Amino acid sequence: MLEKMILAGMDVVRMNFSHGTAQDHIRRAELVRKIADKLGKSVGIMADLQGPKIRIGKFENTKIRLERNDPFILDAECELGNQERVGLDYKTLPQDVEKGDILLLDDGRIVLSVDSINGPRIHCTVRHGGVLSNNKGINRQGGGLSAPALTEKDKEDIRTAAQLGADYLAVSFPRNGSDIHLARELLRNAGGHGLLIAKIERAEAIPALEEILDASDGIMVARGDLGVEVGDAAVPALQKKMIKLARDKNKLTITATQMMESMIENPIPTRAEVSDVANAVLDGTDGVMLSAESAAGKYPVETIEAMSRICVEAEKAVEASLERGFLNREFTRIDQSIAMATCFTAFHLKLKAIASLTESGSTPLWMSRINSGVPIYAMTNIENTRRKMTLYRGVYPIIGEFNGYDRDKLLEKVEEVLLEQNIIEDGDFIALTIGEPIGQAGGTNTMKIVRVGDNRKTHI
Ligand code: PGA
Ligand code: MN
Repeated sequence: MLEKMILAGMDVVRMNFSHGTAQDHIRRAELVRKIADKLGKSVGIMADLQGPKIRIGKFENTKIRLERNDPFILDAECELGNQERVGLDYKTLPQDVEKGDILLLDDGRIVLSVDSINGPRIHCTVRHGGVLSNNKGINRQGGGLSAPALTEKDKEDIRTAAQLGADYLAVSFPRNGSDIHLARELLRNAGGHGLLIAKIERAEAIPALEEILDASDGIMVARGDLGVEVGDAAVPALQKKMIKLARDKNKLTITATQMMESMIENPIPTRAEVSDVANAVLDGTDGVMLSAESAAGKYPVETIEAMSRICVEAEKAVEASLERGFLNREFTRIDQSIAMATCFTAFHLKLKAIASLTESGSTPLWMSRINSGVPIYAMTNIENTRRKMTLYRGVYPIIGEFNGYDRDKLLEKVEEVLLEQNIIEDGDFIALTIGEPIGQAGGTNTMKIVRVGDNRKTHI
């Protein structure tokens, strides 16, 4: 199934640490890499921490049915729930809520209003009833629950993420930049190289967006939990705002949750889902994510195929254009200047491709934030760099051996690899970005425009 999923267009695998054991994740990561290598594809791995999702406990009979106006108690001291009350995994919740608060259970399917708090017990009235089963999540409308972003389990899971070599670490429910800084420190201390993705899914994260973006390498528009906290209708505009701000700050974005929800059960998506995926692409997202569709649905491969088809078509509709502010962009780094100069040149010369030799992946990332309309082929000797570029929109990590050549041989090698993969042909104009002198660590400082095949002519 994984092989089929990769062939259908999956670039990144998310491992949800809310489920499974460390051993499960390590084994799956190995499997993903083995299959990707066999297929000659680059596939990134994202470890997604569970975070402080606040949940109710279990029921004597696994579930109950709540009717409108029923009284119901969230009781931090309750062991097994019944029709009257249920336990809480987050024991200090009663200290975080007030009379009049609205609590949303099971992604908002059940709504409770708080009447009073009595020690460890929150007395509520049911506003919207329904079936409530074991361990469902709780959100407060408007946010503001005090649980810290990294639980003890998350800290343990960060070590697992480092051990399995995760290319991305997604932090659930961060409130501010410090939550991300802490996660990064723990990951680096454990020897992990992954990029930090902040999931924007708490109301407090919205006013803190700039600082969270500055602390992270990218964000996830986590529409599931976010929609519960800020109200579903606020999410589409927030999605656009977040993606734009992230791109302006050279950060990555993933648009997540219910993108192809109906395909959990059906082999084709609804028109609304098709539009949703396409609109995320038009908004400028780097990634579109599947959850239950691929984790538990009946049609994982068909879903990825459909999503891939929609993305490719939507990308064609994006008009290449250097945004109005392009000439006013501020940067002081040499490598970044070369990246911008390359986009400018590639756009105006309508080049066939940009080939970027990179150590850290920074040059491809900067170029991928600009709509030059020219695909970026990223080449590196560093496997971790290659895998983390799988999320960069418009960047295609190329597998190959780029080590141990002198400058001229290396440039020939780049052409050769792109020719072999039918990406370019003789006569095409392409841009190359390199860091000279070759073979020494250091930033990109050179752009070169070449006509494919010309170097071979001069040898005759
Ligand atoms: P989750 O995050 O799938 O881990 O809950 C995404 C979201 O909340 O939308
Ligand atoms: Mn979530």
